[in-house]
Amino acid sequence: MKAMMLWEPERMEMVDLELRPLRRGEVLLKVEACSICGSDLEGYHGWHPKMTYPRVMGHEAASTVVEVGPGVVDLSVGDRVAGGEALPCGKCARCREGHTDECLTPLGPGFTAHGAYAEYFIGMAKRCTRIPDGISFAEAAVAQPAAIARHAVVTRAAIQPGELVLIQGCGPIGLSAMMLAKLQGARVISTDIVDYRCGMARALGADHVYNAHRDNVYDEIMSLTLGKGVDKVIEVVGGAQDETLPQAVQCVKRGGLVAVVGSFAENRATLPVVDFKFNEKTVLGSQSMPEGYGPIFDLVLAGKLDLMRLVSHRLPLEMAEHGLKLMDAKAENVMKVVIEPWREESHRL
Ligand SMILES: [Zn+2]
Ligand SMILES: [Zn+2]
Repeated sequence: MKAMMLWEPERMEMVDLELRPLRRGEVLLKVEACSICGSDLEGYHGWHPKMTYPRVMGHEAASTVVEVGPGVVDLSVGDRVAGGEALPCGKCARCREGHTDECLTPLGPGFTAHGAYAEYFIGMAKRCTRIPDGISFAEAAVAQPAAIARHAVVTRAAIQPGELVLIQGCGPIGLSAMMLAKLQGARVISTDIVDYRCGMARALGADHVYNAHRDNVYDEIMSLTLGKGVDKVIEVVGGAQDETLPQAVQCVKRGGLVAVVGSFAENRATLPVVDFKFNEKTVLGSQSMPEGYGPIFDLVLAGKLDLMRLVSHRLPLEMAEHGLKLMDAKAENVMKVVIEPWREESHRL
């Protein structure tokens, strides 16, 4: 099968890979769509703390089951599934006893095992979610970052109707968070430093949008709230900067809450500790999507969430590196890039 191999940081090449036989609990998945994640970009450059090389990346996958391994009972050939990204390590106690389906330390395809920038990848059946009829493969792939946003908005920050929320960052997760906060009945202020991303936030329904490098976000928020501050902040920028967290704590009201979704490259973001302590502000983390794909699929099926508006490019497998470079350069108004390994030619939306 064809796969996009990242031999080492910034050296990517299409290769022919042999597929190994399936072990207990595994399924062979034909990749129908895989979206490129910001963490893939970190892996491409060699900045991702967990990625090992050589590596076939790709962990936002939507696939068709083409083969089921021993012991798989709840999936069959032909099923349309999202996810599946975990593989038995082969080394832990359960794996050595032959119960690879109960592995204690599973590998992560796309990071520590081969992922979905390929025609096929091997995943674990119990990590797959059936895609309902009426949801396309591309939508199912992009549902992954939306589910990460939903965990932050609904579970961690528990956004309520009528609240005023600042969402820092208008990338795919930030825009998903904005749309989901609106669905919760909140009013949303979105910020970014890239103009076309600010424009998308506006087009998708944000109530106020500021360019964080041009506008004084703190002053704008204080005049908007008569000096009180926003009820909650969701930080979806991360990276190596040290601007968003101090701003989040500064802009949130007394007793307000900041949820951090962005992944930070370094372990030293500054908190304005005097303000934070005296005004009883809460800062908490939000990680991954423990609620799974279901709630996002429900919103898409109900016509409340249009994930395809976040997809800017659909590319064939051989253009995966091009997709990464578009994201890097923030070129061509790139938002979410979806790789469709069986697609003939690129399609600019
Ligand atoms: Zn991701
Ligand atoms: Zn194991």
